[in-house]
Amino acid sequence: MATGRSPWQASFADSLLVAAVPTAGAAAGGSVTKMTCDVAVIGGGMAGASVAAELAQRRSVVLLEAEPVAGVHSTGRSAASYLPSYGGQAVRRLTVASRPLFDAWSSALGIELLRPRPLIWLSSDAASDEAAARMLRENVSLQSLTAAEATALCPVLRPERILTALLDSSAMDIDVAGLHHGYLSELKRRRGRMFYKAPVTQIRRSPGAWLVTVGEHTISCGAVVNAAGAWVDEVAERADVPPVGVQPKLRSAFTSKPQSDAAIAGSALVADACERWYFKPQVGSVLASPADESDSPCDARPDELAIAQAIDAINEATTLRLRSVMRAWAGLRSFAPDRSPVVGARRDHEGFCFLAGQGGYGIQMAPALALVAADIVAEGTLSASARAYGVTAEELSPDRFTTGRFAASAGSRPLPDTRQA
Ligand SMILES: Cc1cc2nc3c(=O)[nH]c(=O)nc-3n(C[C@H](O)[C@H](O)[C@H](O)COP(=O)(O)OP(=O)(O)OC[C@H]3O[C@@H](n4cnc5c(N)ncnc54)[C@H](O)[C@@H]3O)c2cc1C
Repeated sequence: MATGRSPWQASFADSLLVAAVPTAGAAAGGSVTKMTCDVAVIGGGMAGASVAAELAQRRSVVLLEAEPVAGVHSTGRSAASYLPSYGGQAVRRLTVASRPLFDAWSSALGIELLRPRPLIWLSSDAASDEAAARMLRENVSLQSLTAAEATALCPVLRPERILTALLDSSAMDIDVAGLHHGYLSELKRRRGRMFYKAPVTQIRRSPGAWLVTVGEHTISCGAVVNAAGAWVDEVAERADVPPVGVQPKLRSAFTSKPQSDAAIAGSALVADACERWYFKPQVGSVLASPADESDSPCDARPDELAIAQAIDAINEATTLRLRSVMRAWAGLRSFAPDRSPVVGARRDHEGFCFLAGQGGYGIQMAPALALVAADIVAEGTLSASARAYGVTAEELSPDRFTTGRFAASAGSRPLPDTRQA
């Protein structure tokens, strides 16, 4: 999507919180070179911004973002959907747990972060019908619809093409920029510090501290949170910490103007149950995707062939008559081998915490995942409220891939709080 500043980023970037890491000359006057904090968070996307804001309530925090603005990578390229029936079990639990947290953030920020947009999972052939049946078994909240009920929720669907339609009535649209900006504002309010144009080049362990290098500057901290999205394993290697095997997968998205006259502004998001395409209405257009998932270097360009195939598939399933693409973009969805998020430190690398592998769900589960990560970083274990989300520190641990699924360490020592020192 956009690589430049969107209006909200511009207004944020011009606000008081933002400071670029000083040049060598400025550092000679002494600012960042001497910086210490309890936690340095690497990456200013949704993951880094959310955990930094949550941690700033408990510890001193510095957030480091390589780009001149935050949110230009995966976070700024999402489909902005909250889909509680999407993803594996841990993802679904964290997504459901995030719902009241979204509501609390909406009240605190005075904006509506979630707006109802029901989701219809659709099957039109044997493969998608099998996927729909599996979904129905795993998701008690999904409701089977008749073809007539499905077309009432999305009038452009061709009823004769529908084998199975499943309704997730708790799905929503997310105001992604609102949430991201909200976390960054809260970080500032809680006295956290953020630096743009601050690519972390090296991380070293010294007795009692981690030393994080940004250009010629070093930040000394008690813990590091690696929330670098598609770059988490690269950042881990810079710290001499074994990578977790997070794989960035490219996903294309596009907008297109329907030729059909049907009024669909308020209609449902419709997704092929096999994830071969999805679309949802926007003002004057639809946002759609071939739901592609190809291996990718960290330079995401939309796949034109996949987009053309998605247009054909959506036109077969609907009367939208999509012809041309108004705007296309691509972003990276980064998955751990088991497609669940990765939170915590490796057994022999205490204080270097991953917050990674959010895949295609990093916005919808961000509020709960940030609280889980803040607990693990600051307290070394999950609080009772985070345990109530239905996930454990063990199942999220990066050690699950090397020591057996649930053999990972359950926690570590709490991080000292130096704010009063
Ligand atoms: C097309 C598409 C549609 C999607 N739709 C949805 C959706 O509807 N709902 C949903 O929940 N999720 C969706 N997602 C997934 C979601 O966008 C991601 O899971 C989420 O944005 C990941 O956030 P992040 O902060 O981990 O990564 P990013 O936003 O990529 O942030 C990582 C940051 O780390 C910084 N960084 C990297 N290396 C360094 C370094 N060395 N030093 C300092 N900074 C560094 C980068 O500059 C970047 O800003 C979608 C993704 C795509 C691509």
